[in-house]
Parts: sequence; C-alpha cells; structure tokens
Amino acid sequence: MPRFYLTTAIDYSNGDPHLGHALEKVGADAIARYRRLRGDQVHFLMGMDEHSQSVIQAAENGAVTPRQWVDEMAERFRRFWQRLECSNDDWIRTTEPRHQAGVTALLQRIQRHHPDDLYQGEYEGLYCTGCEEFKTDAQIANGRCIEHPTLDLVPTKERNWFFRLSRHGDRLLQLIRSGQYLVEPEIRRNEVLRLIEGGLQDLSISRQRMPWGIPFPGDEQQTVYVWFDALINYLSATGFPEAGYERLWPADLHVIGKGITRFHCVIWPAMLLSAEVALPRRVWAHGYVQWEGAKMSKTAGTAVTLDSAMGRHGVDALRYYLLREIGFEADGDFTWERFDGRYNADLADGLGNLASRSLAMLERYRDGVAPPVTDGTTLDQAGAAALKAYAGAMDRFDLRTGADAAWSLVSTANHYIVQTEPWALAKAKRDADLDAVLAALCRCLYRLTVMSAPFMPGKALELWSALGQTGEITAESWNQLGTPPVQGVKTTKPPVLFPKPNPARTEEGGG
Ligand SMILES: [Zn+2]
Repeated sequence: MPRFYLTTAIDYSNGDPHLGHALEKVGADAIARYRRLRGDQVHFLMGMDEHSQSVIQAAENGAVTPRQWVDEMAERFRRFWQRLECSNDDWIRTTEPRHQAGVTALLQRIQRHHPDDLYQGEYEGLYCTGCEEFKTDAQIANGRCIEHPTLDLVPTKERNWFFRLSRHGDRLLQLIRSGQYLVEPEIRRNEVLRLIEGGLQDLSISRQRMPWGIPFPGDEQQTVYVWFDALINYLSATGFPEAGYERLWPADLHVIGKGITRFHCVIWPAMLLSAEVALPRRVWAHGYVQWEGAKMSKTAGTAVTLDSAMGRHGVDALRYYLLREIGFEADGDFTWERFDGRYNADLADGLGNLASRSLAMLERYRDGVAPPVTDGTTLDQAGAAALKAYAGAMDRFDLRTGADAAWSLVSTANHYIVQTEPWALAKAKRDADLDAVLAALCRCLYRLTVMSAPFMPGKALELWSALGQTGEITAESWNQLGTPPVQGVKTTKPPVLFPKPNPARTEEGGG
C-alpha cells in the first residue's frame, strides 16, 4: 500500500481560526480523504506553531503564562478542526518535547555536515510581528508589511546566528526545474524560481535569549528563530532523529498558503540539504479566502467568523462551498450571497433533490429495493466520464475541477429523470424500462456518494446509509465504482440532506 504523508501549515497561537485557516485545512483534508479512497496509507499531520513572540504578548494581556495560553489555544483550534471533520492522524505542537528534540537534532546535523552553513553576525532590519520575520524592501509597502498593513514594523538590531542560504540557490533551482522538488501550482513555481534567480540572502536563524523558544544548540544565549523552529515540525512529527523516521519521511505533500512559499520552497529545502536529510516531494500553495477583495486574516482583522460560516448551512456545506467556489489554486471571494446560492442550487436543489426523488420513486415503485439490472445506460456512461474527470483533477489536487466533475453528474442525473419520466413508465406498466431507470439512478447515487465524500464526509455517510450500504466509504467502495453493488439492496426513506431553513429568504434572495 503506497504511503502518503501530507501536512498543513501549523497555525500561530493567537485568536481563533478564521475562514482562511479553514480553506487550507478542509482542502488538505479532502486530499487526505481522496488518497485514502485510492488505497494509500495516508498519514495526515496538522498542528500548532507555539513559539512566536506574540504568545508572550498575548499571555501578558490575558494574565496567564505562555504555557497556559498555548494549551488553551491548541484546544480551541483542535475543537474547530474536529467540527470541520478534519481527519488528521497526528497533531503536533512545537512546544512538545518530540519537536524540540527534532529541532536540536536538525541543527546538530547541519553543524556536523556543513559547519560553514552557520555563522555569527549582526542583524539589523525591520521586523514584522505578524509574520515573525524581518521584511525586505520588496515586502514593504507604505512603510508596512504587505501581509499586515495594520501593524507597525519594528526596527531591530542584534547578534544572531546566520544560515548560509545563499550557498543553496543553484542546487534549489536545479531541483525545482528538474521536477525533483515540485512546487505547485505553476504560478507559485514561477514566483519561487524568480525569487531564487534574484539571489538569496543569508538568513538570521536565532534571537538573543528569549524566555520562550528552543535554545540554539551550543549557544544557550540564543533562541532558535521561530520560523526555523516551526518548519521542522513536519520532520519532528515523524520521530526524527530516532531510527525509523524514514517510514514517514520524506513528506509527499506540504499544503501551505501562497504567502509562505519563501519559507517552504526555499528556506526549508535548503535547511534539509544542509543537514543532508531527504527533501519533501511536493509543495502545494493555495490562494486566500477574500472578503470584499481583501485577505482574511486575524491580524488584518476579520469580517466573518468561522462559527457563523459553519452555522449558516452546516459544516459540510461550508466545506463544499470553500472548495468548489473559492478553489484551492487561487484567491476567491467569500460572500453570503454566493454561499447561499451554491447551497440552494448545488446541494438542496442539486444533490439533495436528486437523492430524495430517486429514493422516493424507488420506495413507491419497488419497495425501496434496487432492481437487479446491471446493464449500462446513458447515465452510466456519463458516470464513467465524470469519474474519469474527477480522478484526473483530484490526482493533481485541482479540487474545484474535481467537484465540478461530480456535480456535472448531478445535473445529468436530474435531466435523466426528466427525460425518462419514471412515473410515466410506471403508469404504462413498462416494468423492465422502469427497472433499468431506477437501477441506473441507484448506481449513479452510489458513485456520487463516493465522489462527494472527500468534500462532505458527513453528508456522504448519511447518503451511504440511505443507499443501504454499511460501514465507512473506503478504498473498496472506490474500487466498485465501475459496477456499484446496488442491485437487491434495500434503501431507506430519503433523508432531507440539505434542508432549506428559511424558504422565504431563499425565494427572494436569488443567490
Ligand atoms: Zn507581516
């Protein structure tokens, strides 16, 4: 069974997660669930980045210790991700001993293999507390960080350890150009190549002794820079440096936001090259959820909470909307109108209506048991085509196109009902024709259930159960998509999968 180790970015311990965090987590979760359907042994890692300076400030403001603060934040984030049905197999916090051991070990390996890559120097620059990094001129607009236009940059000067990033540019270019180290989508790969081609500057990787963080190996007066520390979580979660960490490492996929490609596609692989540890295979940098054209982030202010978005139409509907409408490759606007519109058109009137009318007809005409007909119909042909398009898109992490493929089959199936008029077939007592239509609809629902499972795991399982299928939706379910085992299975009363809570608003809202 092929192994698939994927990670999300780990989040800062400040405030609650917002929709921007949620897009990344549900996107990665959809990929994890899809890879499991395809039979991979998935290991899905999420976690918290807990050594930032903002933790100290937040803790002071809240009159708790940094430890109490990060414990509380970790629990809050974890609960949000559980509610969003994230199926992560591991949860790492950078304050854990296993992570501290990994950071220390990686730096010691650099000291051993390439001691010239580390040197002491003085650093002077403008520091953004939102990014936790010094900003270069290109990253500053109107005297402020481009990512954090509401925060003041802090002039900072101190003695630090430096990492000789400049030495690794040529090797990184070669690895990325040759595809040995994949940076996707294409637009991000090009950005990263331009960045490296422009020349890399060495990087300050320690701070003068701070009360919070991991001591620099061999120099207790210095603390490991929070970003250098945080990146190593992907490796320390595998048990590195203990024997057997290669069972998981190298990672197959890092899912991150487009704003942190410099760290993940330049600094991180250079750190690993220097330590002589294998590089991850691929980085996917998604776009941002925008609200009225602006990035949604905690430090830049939030307009809509994750709670309110989950409460609108339920968690599965939010997952679907984020991945279908916002997408996973570029920026997209979140609006209530579009969310309501997608909910009504795609879910309530689309998949929900298809399931309820199909299962209602099966109940009325055949006591809920799918007829023993396995002959292919035009709907089966459409199902095979949709499945091919879906798998092709999902294999390249194009989640939006994957959802498009599945939901085009929903439309086709609803048309199929209109065209075949099962009620007329029943009235005319054309039993064989009616059997064929009802069986085709059952096979179609089976396929749609499996294809929608990565996007809306909870609703998919409800539909799975209504179809008379037992247990979870697994790789075995996927393998039966060619000829779904529905004939003779007793289905149950159609569930209302996507209720319309307020018909009046729906009618006048117009999506
Ligand atoms: Zn910033």
